Amino acid sequence: MGSSVTLFKAFDIEVRIHWSFVLILVYGAFYSPNAANPLIGALYGILLILLLFVCVTLHEFGHALVAQHFKIKVPHITLLPIGGVASLERMPDKPLQEFFIAIAGPLVNFVIAGALLPLLLLFGDLLNNSLNLNTIQRMLAQMQAPGVTNLLSYLVVTNVALGIFNLLPAFPMDGGRVLRSLLALGISYVDATRVAVFVGRLMAALFALWGIVDVNIFMLLIAFFIYVGGGSEREVVESKAVLRNILAEQALTNNAVNLYTSERVDRAVELITNSYQTDYPVLDLAGRFVGVLTRARLIYALKEIGPEARIVDVMLKAEEIPACAPNQDLAVVWELMATSASRVVAVKRGPELLGLLTLDDMTEVFQVYGAKLAGPGRAAATTLYQPKPEGVDG
Ligand SMILES: [Zn+2]
Repeated sequence: MGSSVTLFKAFDIEVRIHWSFVLILVYGAFYSPNAANPLIGALYGILLILLLFVCVTLHEFGHALVAQHFKIKVPHITLLPIGGVASLERMPDKPLQEFFIAIAGPLVNFVIAGALLPLLLLFGDLLNNSLNLNTIQRMLAQMQAPGVTNLLSYLVVTNVALGIFNLLPAFPMDGGRVLRSLLALGISYVDATRVAVFVGRLMAALFALWGIVDVNIFMLLIAFFIYVGGGSEREVVESKAVLRNILAEQALTNNAVNLYTSERVDRAVELITNSYQTDYPVLDLAGRFVGVLTRARLIYALKEIGPEARIVDVMLKAEEIPACAPNQDLAVVWELMATSASRVVAVKRGPELLGLLTLDDMTEVFQVYGAKLAGPGRAAATTLYQPKPEGVDG
């Protein structure tokens, strides 16, 4: 989401909008083609789209606020032409948490529709006319023409439609997440994800068919998003299941070499050319862990200062390095790397450093154990190189 701008911030969540959002406003301008005044028609169409996206934003806040309730940070919500995305810093631990986070979005749309319905009944003068199929059909037919009643019917209808559409079991859409969370109450998380992704891909095929028959580009985009998004999320879940079986202390390298604060960078150059180790713990003369010299810092020091640079001046300080206990599993380590954007985690027993785990170690572990689990030829390790927050769609 590189090319988006921040609109505002609320509840510690940045609301961003992607540049391609302009496209949907252009689309909106052509929504009301039969208006008496073409300019009013175009402005009305744009207004409808803007209000629709206010509803999409509220839908995303539904997910985000429930996630925050479960102590999951939500750094931003991004608005795209096909909907919104609330980026959760991590996935919920418990199936029921995922259930409530996923269902909160569509519920917001039903609440909006329910709140606008009395206004629609009032302005639409529907209380005096009997509310039958004919009245409803007339209202739907008039939705595209500028007018207060038509605007209200548009909002009620689209919110109900948004709520229902998002509840379809098309993982990773909301309904698919609801399905996975319910399955996960009975079977393993990995199996629940596999079933949900399979059902989601069947739904994606139906959406694609719909998109082709109806010549609807949004449906095709959504079908594509479901197909790709479901697959990559399944890989993440499968990778994590592998990592969950291995403890941090089991993944440590036995013959790792340390550097000392009194040494200079040329000592690290000597070491790095003679071994595979790329990141070095730095100890002070009393043997206490005080920092890490990463490969990136080493290259920086050589370039900017030269081989005589003191390690203590260029290392990452111990306080900046995320740490874990030896009995924590590698899924936790991976999450630490992702949330702190650090490629190194210190494994410590109390104040004592047992060793470092790097992204390279994680990938290696995954290749060894993951290959056993999934068979040869899988490229799932690539997901390990980009630990990133996962999202809940809108
Ligand atoms: Zn949603």
